[in-house]
Amino acid sequence: MELLGVIGNPIAHSLSPVMHNAALAATGRQGVYLPFLVEHAELAQAVYGARALGFTGLNVTIPFKEHVLPYLTELTPEARRIQSVNTIAFIDDRIVGHTTDGIGFTAAAKSELDFDFSRKAVLVIGAGGAARAITAELLARQCRVYITNRTYQRAEAFRELAGSARLQLTAVPMHPEALQPIMGQVDVVINTTSVGMAKPSAQNPGRESRADVPIPAELLLPQHLVIDIIYNPKQTLFLRLAQEKGCRTQNGVGMLVWQAVKAWEFWWGIAPPVEPMYQAIEASLS
Ligand code: NAP
Repeated sequence: MELLGVIGNPIAHSLSPVMHNAALAATGRQGVYLPFLVEHAELAQAVYGARALGFTGLNVTIPFKEHVLPYLTELTPEARRIQSVNTIAFIDDRIVGHTTDGIGFTAAAKSELDFDFSRKAVLVIGAGGAARAITAELLARQCRVYITNRTYQRAEAFRELAGSARLQLTAVPMHPEALQPIMGQVDVVINTTSVGMAKPSAQNPGRESRADVPIPAELLLPQHLVIDIIYNPKQTLFLRLAQEKGCRTQNGVGMLVWQAVKAWEFWWGIAPPVEPMYQAIEASLS
């Protein structure tokens, strides 16, 4: 029996257990995947304890993706690049940290939309952990990345991700006047902020407002592919307004599924069937 799990705090909301257990059942692999609520002060014990108990691997979620680094014996190049880990493999005495968030994001676009990010021009909205993983992956695919964030300094700090290819990344203030001139140049607009996660329309019917979208939807153009990495709700107000503008859209379910697929590839070198994983997510969200 293989043991797997996800560590985080909070953890009750995590959809990883239903998704991974659906994949385990579909493949007939003898294993179980469990959620673990971990206190910050006990993070090291959680990682070393999982190794001592013979776990195959762990996923790591908020708020531990950076904090877990000191307890790993090595990092993959992808994890080292962004100093963030969402997947751990226990291999003999080694504790190897990897990140699948960025590669999962581009794999979802490829799988669901047959969209290839190579050399595209992209506006990333937000400069948190998910934005960091996605931006690093986009830069590796030689995209031209514009990044905008409520806290401008955090967007500017992303320049370090571009390394010597600094011209490939431009921080843009989060004001319509600053964003307007670049909208005609970008192929893809990605919301990586948490804006839209709340369900104001359910709580306050008819009271959707500017505060529910990360940037004004008037800035969007029909040629944009608009991706919102939020998966709950499945259709954010930003995605609905983008569709009304004629844009192609994608929600965050694909990224959620494909970062898990990439974790399987890291643990076992095989891809699980995605259909049962999508179904498990759909059932949990509905
Ligand atoms: P994070 O590190 O906390 O970053 C949050 C980002 O949202 C920051 O850029 C923050 O701006 C911005 N933000 C928050 N509230 C805002 C507001 N009221 N107005 C404008 N900007 C605001 O979080 P994260 O881990 O990157 O996650 C971000 C979102 O992505 C969450 O909704 C999460 O559920 C989703 N996500 C989805 C997947 C998936 O698999 N689909 C994976 C990871 C994350 P400041 O810098 O100014 O604070």
